Amino acid sequence: GPPRHVTARVAPLGSRLVLVLVEDRTRERRVEAVRRDFVANVSHELKTPVGAIKLLAEAVCDASDDPEAVERFASRMSLESDRLTGLVQQIIELSRLQADDPLEMPDPVDLDDIIAMAVDTSAIDAGSKNIQVVTSGTSGLEVFGNHEQVSAAVSNLVSNAVSYSRPDSTVLVTTKAEDGVVDISVVDQGIGIPSNEIDRIFERFYRVDPARHRSTGGTGLGLSIVKHVAATHGGDIRVWSVEGQGSTFTLTLPQHVPSGADASPEHPHR
Ligand code: ADP
Repeated sequence: GPPRHVTARVAPLGSRLVLVLVEDRTRERRVEAVRRDFVANVSHELKTPVGAIKLLAEAVCDASDDPEAVERFASRMSLESDRLTGLVQQIIELSRLQADDPLEMPDPVDLDDIIAMAVDTSAIDAGSKNIQVVTSGTSGLEVFGNHEQVSAAVSNLVSNAVSYSRPDSTVLVTTKAEDGVVDISVVDQGIGIPSNEIDRIFERFYRVDPARHRSTGGTGLGLSIVKHVAATHGGDIRVWSVEGQGSTFTLTLPQHVPSGADASPEHPHR
């Protein structure tokens, strides 16, 4: 296996007795390395929109006698700063997630609310491309976890499905429970993912061909947030995709079955 980082401390307890404390710091080192990497990536990613805003500001100054150009540069500046805001929000979300890893106090989480909210949030983007977002499957399901995290994961999947879909298509969000877990699937008829890229899409900041869908203004962090949520919940995220035809992302989370759910009409968690 990989080299382990072990420290040993020796404390003499008497002339013939010593106490040896051995501490395995491998995990700590790894966490440190991941954090260093993350900070380096974050700085790199922040530099791009900040650099663009700086250039646009200079262009505005130079074009002071051309009101049309000023307006064009200014609206691109506004777009770039929106992108920067989105990026900072996702970075904060991801570092918050990493802070409570693994989940300490799971709660029963109602999926209907979360899915309805994710669909609502994507409604403007979906509407502008005439995409129908429909829900199906079992309603009233609950998972065991953290409301905010599950909500972030589902929202990211639905908003990706809409972003990478063709106009006039359908996005389906479907739920089912089986063997103590709940599957939440988000199915789109969008651009799909090339099979040689599919292993990489869950990496932080990774985007398939950023130039191809620059207009979607993504950050490459959404799926790493989903993956993290799956991991902290002891769940799973899987993807099937055919390039040019569409993708299905399935998030699997541990099911919470309300005690006496089928015996009593009174729901204890509502
Ligand atoms: P982004 O902010 O770029 O959407 P994500 O981490 O959410 O970042 O996704 C990483 C990449 O995976 C995206 O840039 C896109 O190339 C690809 N991707 C994610 N979801 C889909 C989807 N539903 N259809 C096609 N490609 C997708």
